[in-house]
Amino acid sequence: MINISSTNWQRELRNAIHNPVHLLSLLELSDRLLTETIVAKQRFMLRVPKGYVARMRKGDPDDPLLRQVLPLVEENKRLQGFSLDPIGDVVAEKVSGLLHKYQGRVLWITTGACAIHCRYCFRQHYNYSSHSSNQAVLDAIRADSSLSEVILSGGDPLVLDDSYLSELAQSLARISHIQRLRLHTRCPIVLPERVNDELLAWLTKTRFQVIMVVQANHPNELNESVNQALQRLVEAGITVLNQSVLLRGVNDNAATLIALSEALFKSRVLPYYLHLLDPVQGSVHFNVSEKNALVLLEQMRIALPGYLVPSMVREVAGMAYKKPI
Ligand SMILES: *Cc1c(COP(=O)(O)O)cnc(C)c1O
Ligand code: SF4
Repeated sequence: MINISSTNWQRELRNAIHNPVHLLSLLELSDRLLTETIVAKQRFMLRVPKGYVARMRKGDPDDPLLRQVLPLVEENKRLQGFSLDPIGDVVAEKVSGLLHKYQGRVLWITTGACAIHCRYCFRQHYNYSSHSSNQAVLDAIRADSSLSEVILSGGDPLVLDDSYLSELAQSLARISHIQRLRLHTRCPIVLPERVNDELLAWLTKTRFQVIMVVQANHPNELNESVNQALQRLVEAGITVLNQSVLLRGVNDNAATLIALSEALFKSRVLPYYLHLLDPVQGSVHFNVSEKNALVLLEQMRIALPGYLVPSMVREVAGMAYKKPI
């Protein structure tokens, strides 16, 4: 018997758009914009699921969802301080693929793949190829009893299939000092089909308290399918939080950020972090100054109940927590 729900998301992923010309023609955008786009390097080329493209406005070169994925000539801009490893991930590696920066929590880079390629991504230059075996990672987690939480990250862990992830969760569940399992994933937002019965089955079966941190940056990302996917996660008993990145030309105005918090809460998701951009090479054009960020935060505080105001943070290499702004 063919299982429709599990194959759906994989088909959606295979049919993602990789060609800027194709994307611009779907959006009825002129060739003028094409002169501003680049064919990004093979490892981090354009990648966007069609369901996400459907949420973009046709004919609008400044659409905030389009801006997040379209490789622009501006990526070639260089600025001092914008580097390949802006937040010290490489030095924080315990074994290759396992980052231990913060007390009690480790972040496991389970895959280099993502359902979408976000042009501001701080891991776009990370070397995913030299990775330890799962066994070596599990051994390192088992050997450190100060750990209580494992974060599955990447890339995006939810591009891996459910039988693989379920086995991973079972191996972790055999390590008695681990109490919480967290997933950092953009899939529920960019590929809501991914939240299916198979995923919910293993997530609800583990002995862990499960936390899922999704990433939406603009209220237009939250359509009805996304809303349903998020509510299913919450109804399954998972704590769902959102993190966003403050991005010039995408969400750097108070009305957008306020609408985002409100839209998230309609899906029963709480805003967690609003990150200032990590200064990664190729993302200079997304940068918002700290001064402007603080003005936006003040406007959010005035307009929203406290539980809908995310913590505004910046990641500083070597610090014991993400630095509040
Ligand atoms: C962001 C991050 C975490 C999680 O930090 P919280 O403040 O607990 O959300 C853990 N490990 C690494 C390496 C991180 O970058
Ligand atoms: S989904 Fe996350 S890891 Fe993947 S490209 Fe986007 S920001 Fe980077």
